[in-house]
Amino acid sequence: MSPADAAGPADVVVALDVGGTGMKCALVRPDGSTVHTERHPTDAGRGPDAVVETILDVAEGLAGKARADGLDPVALGIAVPGVVDEAAGVAVWSANVGFRDVPLRDLAAARLGLPTALGHDVRVGGLAEARLGAGRGTGHVLFVAIGTGIAAAHVVDGVAATGAHGAAGEIGHILVRPGGPRCGCGRDGCLEAVASASAIARRYAEATGAGPTGTPASAADVADRAAAGEPAAAGVWAEAVEALADGLATGQSLYDVESIVVGGGLAQAGPRLFDPLRAALHERMTFHRRPRLVAAALGDEAGCLGAALLALDAR
Ligand SMILES: [Zn+2]
Repeated sequence: MSPADAAGPADVVVALDVGGTGMKCALVRPDGSTVHTERHPTDAGRGPDAVVETILDVAEGLAGKARADGLDPVALGIAVPGVVDEAAGVAVWSANVGFRDVPLRDLAAARLGLPTALGHDVRVGGLAEARLGAGRGTGHVLFVAIGTGIAAAHVVDGVAATGAHGAAGEIGHILVRPGGPRCGCGRDGCLEAVASASAIARRYAEATGAGPTGTPASAADVADRAAAGEPAAAGVWAEAVEALADGLATGQSLYDVESIVVGGGLAQAGPRLFDPLRAALHERMTFHRRPRLVAAALGDEAGCLGAALLALDAR
């Protein structure tokens, strides 16, 4: 029986997607439709204890809002970045929110008295894209989010693999350019050190010797300038696309998926990303089946919807 079959007519789940700067929050019906959304600042600079209090307050407020509207909050789902032990319900580590072994699932369950699931932001985003978004109808999906970093979720039949330690899907740290640019993880040549949106902006600034004056070019600017034929931009963009194709080809070798769904800020580049990336990926396929390469469909709501799906599954 699917969660929708088991649901009452007024059932909703409370869903929160906690990021380094903001929290996207919603009340979601078991069929995946959203009935109410809110956004709140995370203010991560206050420290993890204060962030946890805000998460609990916001979740409690949403459950109260549901009841005031005649709805029945039946479960809570929370997505957080970093390393997440979903089985234990613990936010193990997060660079941008500051979590260190926070038993967030149990804290939230105790405060709200609802069945609660804790998930990883990219993995639940992949879950939502696989079930409700661009991967819908395909059983094997690799969701790749390209923003300040690069992370992935491997979703099989609507379930995202977590790994033994809650760290599956770190495709951004595939070594694609040995001896290449230094990655935030401390190693040289990881995929995200070449091809994340922030790496593209940084590498373009380095290539052009752009000084501290003026607004630095974003990855989207680099895509525009590359399309306009500017050599430095075209070089940085092409290197990023080639590195991404190497990373995705590794992913396809490992997972043999039907769909690779690319989301995050860089996917906004549209055909400027997808046309050359698809060609470069296909070049790298030998005996492999070519996956469908498509843009994510749910935008920045994927994490929140995925947190809701996780809550429905856990109920
Ligand atoms: Zn790395």
